[in-house]
Amino acid sequence: MITIIRNVDVYKPEYIGKKDILMIGNKIATVEDNISIELNCHVEVNEIDGSGKIAVPGFIDSHVHLLGGGGEGGFVTRTPEATLSSLTKSGVTTVIGCLGTDGVARDLMSLLAKAKALEEEGITTFIYAGSYRLPLKTITGEIMKDIMAIDKIIGIGEVAISDHRSSQPSFDEFAKAAADARVAGMLSGKAGVINVHLGDGKRQIELLERVVNETEIPITQFVPTHVNRNPELFEKCVQYAKRGGYIDFTGSEDPDYNEKLDGEISFSKGLKRLMEENVSMDNFTLTSDGQGSLPVFNEKGELVGLGVGTSRCLIKAIKDSVKKQNIPLEIAIRALTSNPAKAFKLKNKGRIEKGFDADLCLLDKNLDIDTVIAKGKVMVQDKTPIVFGTFEEKQ
Ligand code: ZN
Repeated sequence: MITIIRNVDVYKPEYIGKKDILMIGNKIATVEDNISIELNCHVEVNEIDGSGKIAVPGFIDSHVHLLGGGGEGGFVTRTPEATLSSLTKSGVTTVIGCLGTDGVARDLMSLLAKAKALEEEGITTFIYAGSYRLPLKTITGEIMKDIMAIDKIIGIGEVAISDHRSSQPSFDEFAKAAADARVAGMLSGKAGVINVHLGDGKRQIELLERVVNETEIPITQFVPTHVNRNPELFEKCVQYAKRGGYIDFTGSEDPDYNEKLDGEISFSKGLKRLMEENVSMDNFTLTSDGQGSLPVFNEKGELVGLGVGTSRCLIKAIKDSVKKQNIPLEIAIRALTSNPAKAFKLKNKGRIEKGFDADLCLLDKNLDIDTVIAKGKVMVQDKTPIVFGTFEEKQ
């Protein structure tokens, strides 16, 4: 399949002006002015008029509970699995799946099977070994073997700290798991990253900082997530990012409500703060926590409400950054493209450039997602999914 997008404003994520994008098979062949191709054979060429639209790399959502998550309010609160179109219509072309609180009734082998299914359905998928808890449950019996032997496993997580739902990991347990992930990553050419769930406990990032300070494991080995869950935690994480660490924001479909409810810092306001503090613009990512439950607890730790996260929050955060905080699109969009590609060492992802995977989104002038292409195939057209997962009802 050959696809040409004509006359589109390209953010690769850096803005490079109006260009044509030529995709052959699942790769970007070139990005140039006025591409013309002459074919002396019968090959279908799909021409897309990109005028009035903006092309950005396909989104990398690096923290999604693909199997569903939750369950903290009993079995009836277990959330449903992700579907192909729920991801693609939100612009997601690469997803990293994780287990959360429940690594017992949901296990890693099922997560791997789910990730393989989504890959066959058309997007790119990876997973983390483990769940909230240490010691970590693996497929092969060892963290290092899982990362080295199973292509889709690129690290471990989400390991929970400072949370009443964590396994209350010790310094030694946490450092040992991180060391195994790092060395296995080195040996297999992967990131070997440790995705760290930060709870709202008063210890905040103490354990993470101790491991960074007291061991030789570099700060870039970790991606702490939910950094924006409250102002105090966020300020700690701003300082952590200033030291060179990655930090991952969790998006919200209603940032104003979440700000009022528990002081959550929206991505757009948080990014503004990072810019004021001169944090490296390579060091932040944004994820949806998709399919996870969004539990609301009272001061006694009792569950009082529940929702389900989706990847829809991603573009909302980008729009708010551009429209409400006047942050350039080429900066904000890094959170979903070049930055996670770097943090997770995803080769050929996160950029609209020759040789990279043909994953991209076309946005309209209002920054709404109009078209989504994954591995060279149009998945969403005119804001409507046209490719569906095996058991999805076509809407
Ligand atoms: Zn989490």
